[in-house]
Amino acid sequence: MRRPPLRESRLISEQLIRRANLGRTSTLTPESARICTLALQLALATPSRAKVLSVICGNKSCSQSVECMPCVMKANEIMNLYEEGGDARLC
Ligand SMILES: [Zn+2]
Repeated sequence: MRRPPLRESRLISEQLIRRANLGRTSTLTPESARICTLALQLALATPSRAKVLSVICGNKSCSQSVECMPCVMKANEIMNLYEEGGDARLC
């Protein structure tokens, strides 16, 4: 997934929040809308359980086997954090 430009993303988000806090409507240019959409898609993206398992498993003979219970349990905990939102904070 393509990451939106960081500086522009920050400027747009600060401006949108500032206007929202003032109760004002915001209008986005097509480029700003594209940047906001990329940022939202990136924020909403989650890896698959299988991908998480493949990254955390240090057991070479495991090959993401369901028998590698310590890794499966860690992967489940990580996926639960994504589903619960973890400690993520919004601005
Ligand atoms: Zn493992």
